[in-house]
Amino acid sequence: MNDRFQRQINYLRISVTDRCNLRCVYCMPPEGVQLIPHHEILTLEEIAAVVAAGVRVGIKKVRLTGGEPLVRRGILDLVAKLRRIPEIDDLALTTNGILLGDMAGALQAAGVNRVNISLDTLQPDRFRRITRGGDLGLVWRGINAALQAGLQPVKINTVAMRDFNDDELARLAGLTLDLPLHVRFIELMPVGSSGSWAGSRFISSAEVRKLITSRLGNLEAVKKVKGSGPARYYRLPGAQGTVGFISPVSDHFCAQCNRLRLTATGQLRPCLLNHREIDVKKALRGGAGRDELVRFFREAVLNKPDGHHLNAGWWERDRNMSQIGG
Ligand code: SAM
Ligand code: SF4
Repeated sequence: MNDRFQRQINYLRISVTDRCNLRCVYCMPPEGVQLIPHHEILTLEEIAAVVAAGVRVGIKKVRLTGGEPLVRRGILDLVAKLRRIPEIDDLALTTNGILLGDMAGALQAAGVNRVNISLDTLQPDRFRRITRGGDLGLVWRGINAALQAGLQPVKINTVAMRDFNDDELARLAGLTLDLPLHVRFIELMPVGSSGSWAGSRFISSAEVRKLITSRLGNLEAVKKVKGSGPARYYRLPGAQGTVGFISPVSDHFCAQCNRLRLTATGQLRPCLLNHREIDVKKALRGGAGRDELVRFFREAVLNKPDGHHLNAGWWERDRNMSQIGG
């Protein structure tokens, strides 16, 4: 279905849990976020019912995220349920990779097509600092398991942060020389507890690109990587993988936005960077059937704003990324 700005909306990102086994500095406060009681979180059946309604307005692509989706009990069942919806032709997952080493094969068998794995540094100590306690070795195990299980293309999400990892962004891009990985540099966004912190650590994609080309040579534009969304992709000379840039702050990619979000608590959210939400859970638990859910999707599509207002100082104060689903 098209929205008011002629964008075709066919992608739903679902936060399956607000819980996480890490506490990344840009995503959560040190003490973690206040956990939402279990009964407030959508059940697996409810999530599947929402997706089954979404396909009636043209949703074809689903991404499971969070929080950390692999800590959600029953995640493989959910994948299998969604796989059985014939209109869904692309089922992806975004993970911090900690549990992926043991789960990649089962995720692929249950029906996940591909994964994005977050990785902001190649240094174990720094990884522990950025994630407040994570083990980098486990993430590498997860990356290798994803490649072996054929969850491809395997994309790496790297948030660029001044004085945190700007000195190794070129090395991270260099991973694509020998491995079939697609490393994407994401601009830091002012969301939740990191809002006030993000300003002084922000690095634009243009600056990251300069850092990379000054060390590793030219980046040639690449047409398309499967599920490329808002990223722009390039290749280093002779590289197996690609380097991408996702620039929500410096470059308005809103004109190409094709997505809606479903939060862990069952709110349909037309835009990550806008407070507006539609309470699908309340309707579901009040007995709403498929047709009513379809109406909610129509409302969400028609209420999708044309773009965000980050550059005018807007920031999401009420919710962290883990709650909305990054
Ligand atoms: N736990 C999973 C993970 O880390 O991949 C999935 C959820 S996480 C919220 C999804 C993505 O959002 C991650 O790649 C993370 O780096 C990114 N993210 C979180 N907070 C962010 C922020 N303030 N600015 C930019 N990206 C952010
Ligand atoms: Fe957890 Fe992902 Fe947020 Fe890090 S970015 S705290 S791994 S939800």
